[in-house]
Amino acid sequence: MARHLITSAIPYINGIKHLGNLVGSQLPADLYARYLRARGHEVMFLCATDEHGTPAELAAAKAGKPVAEYCAEMHTVQAEIAKGFRLSFDHFGRSSSPQNHKLTQHLAGRLADAGLIREVSEKQVYSHADKRFLPDRYIEGTCPNCGYDKARGDQCENCTKQLDPTDLIEPRSAISGSTDLEVRETKHLYLRQSDMRGKLQEWIDSKTDWPVLTTSIAKKWLNDGDGLQDRGITRDLDWGIPVKKGEEDWPGMEGKVFYVWFDAPIEYIACAGEWAEANGKTDADWERWWRTDKGADDVRYTQFMGKDNVPFHTLSFPATILGSGEDWKLVDYIKSFNYLNYDGGQFSTSQGRGVFMDQALEILPADYWRWWLLSHAPESSDSEFTWENFQGSVNKDLADVLGNFASRVTKFCRSKFSEEVPAGGTPGAREAQLIADLEKGLREYETHMDAIEVRKSAAALRALWVLGNEYLQDVAPWTTFKDDPDTAAMQIRIALNLIRFYAAISSPFIPDASAQLLTAMHAEDAGWPTDVASAVAALPEGHSFSVPDVTFRKISDEERSGWQERFAGVRT
Ligand SMILES: [Zn+2]
Repeated sequence: MARHLITSAIPYINGIKHLGNLVGSQLPADLYARYLRARGHEVMFLCATDEHGTPAELAAAKAGKPVAEYCAEMHTVQAEIAKGFRLSFDHFGRSSSPQNHKLTQHLAGRLADAGLIREVSEKQVYSHADKRFLPDRYIEGTCPNCGYDKARGDQCENCTKQLDPTDLIEPRSAISGSTDLEVRETKHLYLRQSDMRGKLQEWIDSKTDWPVLTTSIAKKWLNDGDGLQDRGITRDLDWGIPVKKGEEDWPGMEGKVFYVWFDAPIEYIACAGEWAEANGKTDADWERWWRTDKGADDVRYTQFMGKDNVPFHTLSFPATILGSGEDWKLVDYIKSFNYLNYDGGQFSTSQGRGVFMDQALEILPADYWRWWLLSHAPESSDSEFTWENFQGSVNKDLADVLGNFASRVTKFCRSKFSEEVPAGGTPGAREAQLIADLEKGLREYETHMDAIEVRKSAAALRALWVLGNEYLQDVAPWTTFKDDPDTAAMQIRIALNLIRFYAAISSPFIPDASAQLLTAMHAEDAGWPTDVASAVAALPEGHSFSVPDVTFRKISDEERSGWQERFAGVRT
């Protein structure tokens, strides 16, 4: 038994996320957390809402609410939706928490003491039309690197290059579109990331098992051009964590807040403090997950995120951690994802294009989405959601292969025997073959899950479901029953046990269906199988069960085309 700390990239507060966001971090993180718990490991799975910065201020203004109130409400909304998708966080925190305020100010003070912060008089863009300083991401223009014409002042989402607003060609306000911009002088704090370059390089070089997608992005920002650049950690905003050096004021920084990119990842740690507070635990209880000097030596820490978040997690956040000189846990493995596209284009929050998390749950239960998204996770390249593919996958994998297996086996048993596991018959060569095939398949599934190869895991799980179907086709107990009811009883006994086996091993992907099937089999306590031979004999002769309701229903062509039309754009 090992100890696993898992964090998902924290979703921004200003609205409900779409399915592309979900599959890029929270959902695969949940899959892994559920799997590790099922295997008997101790897991701390944390996520939170990312609440600071200008987008939160603007969204609150648009909603006509004070920003703190808006964030509190949206946090509740996101937490409810996360529950709807069965995201099994140990805690879903808030980056605006008192714990994060304190820790962010503390770490900034440590970095300052270590000489890793410098004060910079910088020129910042002021918009006359908007009557405010424009944060980097609220200035748009053409990317000097790739020519993309909607690059933001902090990063080009097309080529992922981190930018400064003054790099942009033909800059304009993203709020009003105004080009009446003026560059004004203001003072800010910078994290001397460039001084940390050697340490970061050494650390990243030691991570030989990381996915290429992760290390290639990290190395690019570490080495391209002039190498890793220092980065501003403060902003001229009202909403955020006030700039302080530990508990003391920071002369010259009055009225400024920390930049959201600086405080957001610190929330991964602060969130554990929130968990402790919410559950009546002590500081020692959360620190044993995060402080290597207080018990976190043996913790394995895995982060999940979309590829656009990789530079912050491989460079900026580690620079904060390493630079503090304190014994905080560094990430051991970063699992990053490409993008999920939507039906021939991109998901778009602003245009309401694609399916958003709340809408998804309105039309179908969580397991349908979980299965499709995870089995099509954008790992080695971008992937695409289409309604045809979704319909096909749900109808075939879930309804035909898994759901139908459970339904026909239990119904057949009820009609020919009873609602009890039937006695009689002796397993033979075909059963031995089945067990050997399942054993091999189960080990393969576990290997992929251990390696967080999400699509391969889904394929391996599906292959296990298929083996049971093939067995049932081959031995045809409905035919056997006519001449040899004893043998039919043995075949059905194996098949009933397979339902329990499938429910147990499918729980990380489809937790509700798994629970439903285990309840039907009166086997709620089924843990992860150690070996298939004992798993297919776990429900003894005479064990009672009930026929489950429909586990997965099929999606009709009418539904599919209706949804296709509904989600084509402009959310209403
Ligand atoms: Zn670009």
